[in-house]
Amino acid sequence: MFIFFAEFSASLGFGKLNDAMATPKKTVRDLQARGKRVLVRCDFNVPLEGSTITDDRRIREALPTIRHLAEAGARVILCSHLGRPKGVTPEFSLAPVAARLGELLGKPVNLAPDCVGPTAKAAVEALGDGEVLLLENVRFHPEEEKNDPVFAAELAALAELYVNDAFGTAHRAHASTEGVAHILPGVSGFLIEKELKYLGEALGNPGRPFVGILGGAKVKDKITVIDELLPKVDHLIIGGGMAFTFLKAKGYEIGKSLLDESNIEYAAKVLAESGDKILLPTDTVITTELTDTATTQVVASDAIPADHMGADIGPATLARFREVILAAKTVLWNGPMGVFEMTPFEAGTRGVAQAMADSEAITIVGGGDSAAAVDQFGLSDEMTHVSTGGGASLEFLEGKVLPGIAALQDA
Ligand code: ADP
Ligand code: MG
Repeated sequence: MFIFFAEFSASLGFGKLNDAMATPKKTVRDLQARGKRVLVRCDFNVPLEGSTITDDRRIREALPTIRHLAEAGARVILCSHLGRPKGVTPEFSLAPVAARLGELLGKPVNLAPDCVGPTAKAAVEALGDGEVLLLENVRFHPEEEKNDPVFAAELAALAELYVNDAFGTAHRAHASTEGVAHILPGVSGFLIEKELKYLGEALGNPGRPFVGILGGAKVKDKITVIDELLPKVDHLIIGGGMAFTFLKAKGYEIGKSLLDESNIEYAAKVLAESGDKILLPTDTVITTELTDTATTQVVASDAIPADHMGADIGPATLARFREVILAAKTVLWNGPMGVFEMTPFEAGTRGVAQAMADSEAITIVGGGDSAAAVDQFGLSDEMTHVSTGGGASLEFLEGKVLPGIAALQDA
């Protein structure tokens, strides 16, 4: 088995992805792992309140790869970063993750006090076949983010094989995500395989109609995504804060709504060239303040008063977006439709998420805040795929090479 997107890469405009991304990668299924020490880079960067994990999705998502290796008789050595510690910082210890992982696996998971050095080595040597060990936060060493070759070699020396299953950090060339793959034979885990399958298929070989939905706060950050998606989609829905730069480009008054001044011209060009594919809000929920108790009004999107701002799409817009989503075969969504974190402005994002849940299309959600929104509405399980990698999925959608994946062995 391998990640299969070479076959459509040529014909369907994967031209921008370089060869390293278009080549299928070996996966954990290709490993002869029995009795072998296998270093697995996971994304255990979970939200914590004190030492309580408030959302363990990233741990649960890693289970298939860990179970597969343990059942194959490997000595499983897990590593991850957590947060942005400056040196060794106890509040960024992976201890809560080791505990939760042990509960989920139904067997103890020891935490080595360091990810390299004598304590890590001793913990690895004590591992039996099928046992699982977690190394302490790799970012306790600043060499991790510098992709320091000596540090990468120390990490690699703990193991004989390497598995990358941390999609969320695959866009970063760090020692544990990229450096080690130049020393140990590296393959992808099931999570990365799944991410590439859904994101890759959506971009390369989508069922049609293919509907892209973009929202969120900034046009600037997502210009390359717009450029990448436009030629591939049948419809591009633009909502959220991003929509106002486009509405402005149409000559509308947008009041105090989010505006990316420097991209009005870009938006105008996109509308002129591909306007027939683009759906913009026709009504907008406006307010004078972004608070949980704000008063709101719905107005036409070309009639936003100068002292108001647009904070969500209106009901007529949602109804139209919903129809398009229900008629789609593939829907790819990145960026909330409004300030969904606050009750007065959540309806548009909730409605789009619900439409995707109700649609029979393949539905894919990428982007950290979009994934959080879908989770907040309890609809994650209704989606075909919710990408765990915010930045990584965005870079993938932009057509960029993810170094943590490029460094893995070709199938
Ligand atoms: P993602 O993380 O899914 O890629 P972004 O980071 O681009 O999404 O955008 C998410 C943010 O956009 C949210 O915090 C949301 O409150 C904000 N947002 C959405 N619509 C608006 C709006 N109309 N005005 C201001 N902020 C908005
Ligand atoms: Mg975000």
